[in-house]
Amino acid sequence: CGVFGVYRQSDAAHLTYFGLHALQHRGQEGAGIAVADGKTVRCRKGKGLLSDVFGRNDLDGMTGKNAIGHVRYGTAGGGEVENVQPIVSRLANGGALAVAHNGQIANAAELRKELEDKGSIFWGSSDSEIILHLLQGTKGPLIEKIKQACNRLDGAFAFLILTEKNLYAVRDKNGLRPLSLAKQGDGWCVSSESCAFDIVGAHLVRDVRPGEIVKISAAGLESCFYTEETSCNLCAMEYIYFSRPDSVLERQNVHGVRRECGRLLAQEDLDNFFKADIVVGVPDSSLSAAAGYSEAIGLPNEMGLIKNRYVGRTFIQPTQAQRDLGVRLKLSANVPVVRGKRVVLVDDSIVRGTTSKRIVALLRQAGATEVHLRIAAPAIKYPCFYGVDMSTRAELASASLEPDVLAKVLGADSLRFLSVDDLKQACGCQGLCTACFDGSYVTPLYSNKI
Ligand code: 5GP
Ligand code: SF4
Ligand code: MG
Repeated sequence: CGVFGVYRQSDAAHLTYFGLHALQHRGQEGAGIAVADGKTVRCRKGKGLLSDVFGRNDLDGMTGKNAIGHVRYGTAGGGEVENVQPIVSRLANGGALAVAHNGQIANAAELRKELEDKGSIFWGSSDSEIILHLLQGTKGPLIEKIKQACNRLDGAFAFLILTEKNLYAVRDKNGLRPLSLAKQGDGWCVSSESCAFDIVGAHLVRDVRPGEIVKISAAGLESCFYTEETSCNLCAMEYIYFSRPDSVLERQNVHGVRRECGRLLAQEDLDNFFKADIVVGVPDSSLSAAAGYSEAIGLPNEMGLIKNRYVGRTFIQPTQAQRDLGVRLKLSANVPVVRGKRVVLVDDSIVRGTTSKRIVALLRQAGATEVHLRIAAPAIKYPCFYGVDMSTRAELASASLEPDVLAKVLGADSLRFLSVDDLKQACGCQGLCTACFDGSYVTPLYSNKI
């Protein structure tokens, strides 16, 4: 998912719309905006893309200087409208509160059961609602309630809370999901990714730190931590696939990291005097890695695949049937470019193998004589419980198949992945979650099964 918020901006709802527009790649199942004018919190949300939910005049009545918004990519919880965010609720003291959450709570099942046993009634099936119920059950000023709630939550969460007057931004103690802070005039912006700041004219200040709660109010910005046990384990998949190339996460530009992944991927082929004619990246998420690979190996980077811009992200479609159709609608081979060529096909990752299999076939039909798959990420062997939709081993192509066998299944002449060490090197020195590659989860698993 993607979250975006603004504080002290005239036209907060419109700015949030534009911010969410820049985050649309993070989720396409639902969108919503909540705005506060000092007295009340109003919310509008619905299923689908931002442009499906908000028509031309839909934001006109949403006046107020503070707002938060959300684009939904469902991992926990189904696609029904109850799970679309922000979720608005009232606290026992009568105050209104809107929450927008990105991530996945690892101990959601346990917390939900506990809350239901105590009498909580949930509207939907998404784990984000748990945050609201936990807030409701705690005592003291809101900041204290948030601290107590966060100490019960484990897993991945970056969330925004909007009240009538204030905005809170929270990041889990492992920093699994990204969240950045920006200055805009005398106001503030918070976003899952910095790419959304440019569009509203805000300037990146820093990331919200793991375990940090930032409160933005008339008094300015205040920061505290809900725990001292913090570490930085940003999801590696944010760099590999999820984020936009122009975003800066933990001070690393996403495009730069991907290009470095491509460069490092080429090393072993260089050492082995590997022969091919052209490098082709899969648009859009692999183009940076393909550029790095081609630079390092000294082969031309060609536009061998064309993407239809009017089809959404295939992986994010919830069912396999939708994903299969999505790939077919989305990509075409550029026949004159690939005909008669030995192609190195660079993709960002293999999850289920749907995309790679289809693309290898496309290139062969277009006359490529050899297709060598190079993946600018390690093999994904373990499920993710932190907000990326790959939650069972059975669906992961690399969980059971070694690269040479998988190459045959996918119809490729050869297949190589980036090593976990090279990935860490490309991402810079900060900590990284690599659990889906090496099984080293940064939290307990609770009831999640590997
Ligand atoms: P596959 O087709 O192997 O199931 O998925 C791989 C394709 O989906 C890649 O082309 C990649 O661009 C995209 N993708 C890879 N990893 C992820 C991920 O972790 N999350 C999402 N949403 N998409 C991914
Ligand atoms: Fe990201 Fe993989 Fe960790 Fe999930 S397990 S948070 S996809 S690196
Ligand atoms: Mg792709």
